[in-house]
This record gives sequence, structure tokens and C-alpha cells, in this order.
Amino acid sequence: MKNITVLGSTGSIGTQALQIAENDENINICSLAAKSNVKLLSQQIRKFKPNIACIADKEKYSELVLETKDLSTKIVCGEEGIIEAASEKQSDSVLNSVVGIAGLVPTICAIKEKKRLLLANKESLVCAGKIVMQLARDNGVSIIPVDSEHSAIFQCINGEKKEKLQRIILTASGGPFYGKKRQELLDKTKSDALKHPNWDMGAKITIDSATLMNKGLEIIEACHLFDVEIDKITPVIHRQSIIHSMVEFCDGSIIAQLGSPDMRLPISYAINYPERKKSIANRADIFKIPALTFDTPDFDTFKCLNLAISAYKKGGVCPAALNGANEAAVDLFLHDKIKFLDIADLVEEALKNFDGGNDVALNEVFDADKKARNIVYEKGLSLC
Ligand code: MN
Repeated sequence: MKNITVLGSTGSIGTQALQIAENDENINICSLAAKSNVKLLSQQIRKFKPNIACIADKEKYSELVLETKDLSTKIVCGEEGIIEAASEKQSDSVLNSVVGIAGLVPTICAIKEKKRLLLANKESLVCAGKIVMQLARDNGVSIIPVDSEHSAIFQCINGEKKEKLQRIILTASGGPFYGKKRQELLDKTKSDALKHPNWDMGAKITIDSATLMNKGLEIIEACHLFDVEIDKITPVIHRQSIIHSMVEFCDGSIIAQLGSPDMRLPISYAINYPERKKSIANRADIFKIPALTFDTPDFDTFKCLNLAISAYKKGGVCPAALNGANEAAVDLFLHDKIKFLDIADLVEEALKNFDGGNDVALNEVFDADKKARNIVYEKGLSLC
């Protein structure tokens, strides 16, 4: 029996993970946590009967208690509640699919409790990669990637010697604005940006995908997860999203992982690793998939990619500042307060206020995040 906690259970990854659980009698859901969707969370509690369920939004607590009063699940709320859900005793794996830096505390908590971490929250590694990876080593905890590209890389390097790895080729769909120039992006709206060609995901990551910030964050995520230098990671636009990433070895061999663009595949792989089990993910029909194409990203139009790379190279709190600034800018864009191109401009502007460096403490990460957000909200709101 696999005892699993799902944090971010009402989001895109969370709901797909629960679909997998529903179809596998060997998966037991021990605890759940969601941000604010009481209706869906209470349905999930009814179906999976976890020991603990957390609603992060404290104002929704009494509503959830009322909805589930006939059930024995312990209802908790707020940040303390998420910590309680992440530390639930019976679980041996924690799937962290919280969005944003809000996922960092649960990541740390799960590792300290020696739970296997199934990581969909890339921001944990972007903001505090060194701290998280060191903590995982100290606690003997493995981190299994859920992000599709990282799951692909993880599968491609399985059984290989790390020193023989020469390059990671990280694929990107290019998002809805692929091929467009800055001039054509001036009046792009929220609904244009939310139309992702291949993947059905949450709003924040879909916008990140349109700006290519998502790829920048994923490059940083890969540096930490696989302990490789950033110059050994090459982003490539692959419109079809059939190859989920590739790895090149010292002999010139390139190994790729292919599959249909369906997150249930990497989620299922992470849950069952090191085993492979039959999954409910859609199959890629090799005779029906279109020709596979590869292209270099347009770094000039999609500035976020270079902003992320340079923030990582500067080091210190810069990646955390980048992420905080981006979360704030995407939030403003999703509330129609700023234009699409303002996202990158605001992040760039905010980053000017941070110095690079080496190792940082966790409190410095949170301080940088807060400072970067404040700068973006202040500047962003003055634009509208
Ligand atoms: Mn991804």
C-alpha cells in the first residue's frame, strides 16, 4: 500500500493525482490540503477519507468543518494546518503541488519528517534549491520530480553515471505566443495568454509558459535536482510536446523520453517509482503524432528566460527575488492590472534591487521574496 499526502489537491496536478489514486486500490490518501476550494475539497474528503485535511484560507475553515461534520477527518487550516497535513504520520510520500513559494514550507516540512517528496512545486527549488537539496541529503530523503521535463530527464539518466552526462536538452512548447515579436504582444490579453496549445494547466503556470518564465524556472529547478551547471542545460522549443526532454551523454548518444502531453504520466511515475505501473494517461500513437520539430527560443522577445538564467548565475537571493517578482507580476496580469509585456519588465526592474552571492539562509529567501513582490505591486499598480 502506498500512503500518500496530496498538497494542492484541488489544483490541476492534485486532481489528476487523485484520479490516479481512484483507479489504484494500492494507493491510500492520508492527508489533503487545498488553498480555498471548499466545495471540491469536501468532495475529495468524502471520497478518500483522509486522516487530515487542510484548507489554507482560514476564512473557509468553518465552512469546511460544516461540510464534513459527519466524517472523521480532522480539519485544519492556515499555514500551521499545511504543516500538519504535510507531516501526517501514516503517509510515506508527499506530493507537493502547491503553487508558488507557498510550497516551500511544506517541502521543508515533508523532508524533515523523512517523507519521500514527489515534487511538482518547482518554486521550492528555484527559491531555496541549495537548502532543500542539502536538507534532503541530510535526511536521506529522495525527491522525485513531477514536472514533466524533469521526470523525463530523471527517466533518461536512470542507471547512467552522472559524470558521463554532457548536456540536458530541456524542451519547451513555446506557449501560445510562439513566433510572435514584441510588437505583436503589446495588446495580448489574459484570455489569449491562457490558451495553451498542448497542456491543460493552472492559470499561473500557463502565464509562465506564455512568457517562457516557466522554462527559466525549470532550468533552475534542473540545476538543483540533477546537480548540473546551468551552461549544460539547453532549452529547445519543441512545439508538439511529445518529447518531454532529452539527455546527451559523453559518447554523443541522446536519450529522450516521449509520451502524450498528459501530466498523469509523470505523476504516476513519481508515485510508483522505482516501479512502473499501468497508467490512466493518454497514449501517444506513434503513427498519429505529427513531425517533431526543434527550434531555438527567441531570447529577445521572451526576456524572462534570460532573466531567470542571469538570476541563477548571480546567485544568493536573486532566484527567490525573480520568483517573487514574477508571482506578483502574474497576479497583476491575471487581475487585468498590467499588460503582458509588463510582466517581464517588472521582473527585470525588481531584480535591479538585489545583489547576488553564495549561500543564503531561509529567512533571507523569504525576505527577498517579500521585497520583490512589494516592488512589483507598487510599480505595477502605478502603471494602471
Ligand atoms: Mn514543466
